[in-house]
Amino acid sequence: MQYFKKFLFLFSAFFISYPLVAQEKAASKIYAITHVNVIPMDTEQILENHTVIVENGRITRVAPSAEVKLPQAAEEIDGRGRYLIPGLTEMHGHIPGEDRPQYVEDVLFLYIANGVTTVRNMLGNAYHLKVKKKVERDELPGPKIFAAGPFFNKKLAPTPEAADREVRLQKEAGYDLLKMGSIDKETYERMAMTANEVSIPFGGHIPEEVGLIGALDAGQRSIDHYDRYVEFLVPDDATTEGVSAGFFGSGLIQLIDRSRIPEAVKRTVEAGTWNVPTLSLIEHLASPIAAEKMINRTEMKYMPEDVLDGWLKFKNTYSKRQDFQPEATKALVELRRELTKELHDSGAKIVLGSDAPQFFNVPGFSLHREMEMMVNAGLTPYEVLVTGTRNPSLYFETPEEFGTIEPGKRADLILLNANPLEDISNTHKIQAVIVKGKYYNREALDKRLAEIEQAGKD
Ligand SMILES: [Zn+2]
Repeated sequence: MQYFKKFLFLFSAFFISYPLVAQEKAASKIYAITHVNVIPMDTEQILENHTVIVENGRITRVAPSAEVKLPQAAEEIDGRGRYLIPGLTEMHGHIPGEDRPQYVEDVLFLYIANGVTTVRNMLGNAYHLKVKKKVERDELPGPKIFAAGPFFNKKLAPTPEAADREVRLQKEAGYDLLKMGSIDKETYERMAMTANEVSIPFGGHIPEEVGLIGALDAGQRSIDHYDRYVEFLVPDDATTEGVSAGFFGSGLIQLIDRSRIPEAVKRTVEAGTWNVPTLSLIEHLASPIAAEKMINRTEMKYMPEDVLDGWLKFKNTYSKRQDFQPEATKALVELRRELTKELHDSGAKIVLGSDAPQFFNVPGFSLHREMEMMVNAGLTPYEVLVTGTRNPSLYFETPEEFGTIEPGKRADLILLNANPLEDISNTHKIQAVIVKGKYYNREALDKRLAEIEQAGKD
């Protein structure tokens, strides 16, 4: 009996400890964030003077400080006067390609430095699957990655048969998502059928021929940038001959019939499709602030020169386009804010995404700007935080994994110096970030940020 027990012990110790090896590497320490105001994001509440214990990359306890006896090995993090929120998710991010490995590492760290602990990478190839695995094995510091595969455009999927093959290939390769671009209607329908058959979500853009309703009916998992909403709002009898939709409907914006908004909202709610507004994508290009001024924002110092140059040229080109004159862009920005508010208040599913690094969106930093834009659209700071914390975990159908501060969840946390529920811009005031149990205090964040800044100057 004694023998048997010993055997059982060894047996279970082996099997339990083995999968934890990788986790322990990043998170062998136990942390206790004490006397902190916890904003758990399960409901709108603040748990004052609480202690949160982090162990093996997970949150193991959340309780009033008076009730918690700290584990002996725990390193204490003073949370007095501070606010603890779950890590944020960038639902529309782009991790650069393998030709620039240093830029990739820098981008991953810019996410961490801004408390972005999960990223849905909206386009990729086999290299991004490797990056994802490296982060999972703690060989590379970074947020948890959900990886979309190569772009579904007419080159990748010229026919329904090609689309069918490509869906199966991407599923087999281990991608988490099919990124939609412009393909034929018939090809899209076949893609959707196969994707549903092999259980891989598809999201992103909507092909013009498919339109909003076509995508909602096909079960598209997410619509990014409010693609094709403007087209839906243009009445059937409007004269659109020779008019091109332009940039996310900028060319059609003067033709829309606002009385069609409730129908668009209703259909979206019924379909259960998620929206990733990426307000900043359009607001940055439409902004009357000159591109030359925008690239002087403080966070721009972390971006490579050629990327900044690209943004500058893009905005200046767009400002000369006929469909992008102030009246049209102002109407487009207003419509997108209105859609955000209407969709949200009607119960449509919304997740936070900024589309970084596109058009003045510096990875990580841009998500905080996006949150400010969502507040400008009429959501409360709490409602906006839901779109960046709890909602992404629902989108990925893993609410037990992350998105709120509760025992058992991944230890992805941001310690703030001010209350974000009072003012959303307080999410900028980061004192520390914990990613999968790995702790970065302000000093550690600043040190690495300074290296990234310096590298850009060399
Ligand atoms: Zn994108």
